Amino acid sequence: MSGVLYIVATPIGNLGDITIRAVEILKSVDFVLAEDTRHSKKLFAHYEINSPLSAFHEHNENERVSSIISEINSGKSIALISDAGTPLISDPGYQLVSEAKNIGVRVVPIPGPSAAIAALSSSGIASSSFTFFGFLPSKQASRLKFLKAKKSLHEAMIFYESPKRILQSLEDMLQVFGKDREVCLAKELTKSFETILNDKLTNLIDYLESDSNYQKGEFIIIVAPNDKIDLDEAQRHLEEILPILCDEMSASKAAKLAAKITGLDKKYCYKEAINL
Ligand code: SAM
Repeated sequence: MSGVLYIVATPIGNLGDITIRAVEILKSVDFVLAEDTRHSKKLFAHYEINSPLSAFHEHNENERVSSIISEINSGKSIALISDAGTPLISDPGYQLVSEAKNIGVRVVPIPGPSAAIAALSSSGIASSSFTFFGFLPSKQASRLKFLKAKKSLHEAMIFYESPKRILQSLEDMLQVFGKDREVCLAKELTKSFETILNDKLTNLIDYLESDSNYQKGEFIIIVAPNDKIDLDEAQRHLEEILPILCDEMSASKAAKLAAKITGLDKKYCYKEAINL
């Protein structure tokens, strides 16, 4: 009988943040794939987990996938963990899970912490719709290009950032999003120096520059949705969708829908619709 591949979330700092089920699964499997086995030993010692640990990281994922799948097919159950939080969320495991699913291996999530969700839930930024982008490009030119493409998004944006680039990335965001965009900077969540600051980008940059120690640690940046309409872009969008909508429904219904989609005024959309 085939075994199971468990995807197990582990703490993002505070060792108490792990589920009872996660500990039980980690104790019961044949072995645990871990990014850095030395790092995971601390968690294992704390919870008296004695399952063998096996190194599985971005540099050996490719070559290990087929032998791991064979072990599961021979009846072994295996858990995948990362150094912190939920595996595959800016962490290794995608190739393994996708291959496992392709050949019908049962993949079972054991949910728990993820830094992105912890930050979003405590950011006070509108969270009904959001996009998680993971790490920003490390080269400044690519980063600026990436950010420019996201400038008009009407939903929260979540980024992971390293202490090496946190200041530069905020400066690039200031250049692209402007000085009025609200941002939440969440640092060292669940750890002793946990800091969650909501402010304009200029103030967050001033804060980081005021003491180089403030630039140390693990960071998440949450950018509030753009609440202003880019009129040129909205007009372009309206010109694209209005003829399609008008083919399917009355001008007043089409205008109402177009106004909802583009953020433009309903009366204006109606005028455009009847002039088509
Ligand atoms: N898989 C993890 C998760 O589910 O959150 C993320 C792993 S990713 C390699 C590591 C990045 O996550 C860090 O550079 C940082 O941006 C963010 N991160 C992880 N733990 C954090 C914490 N305790 N506080 C703030 N950010 C954290």
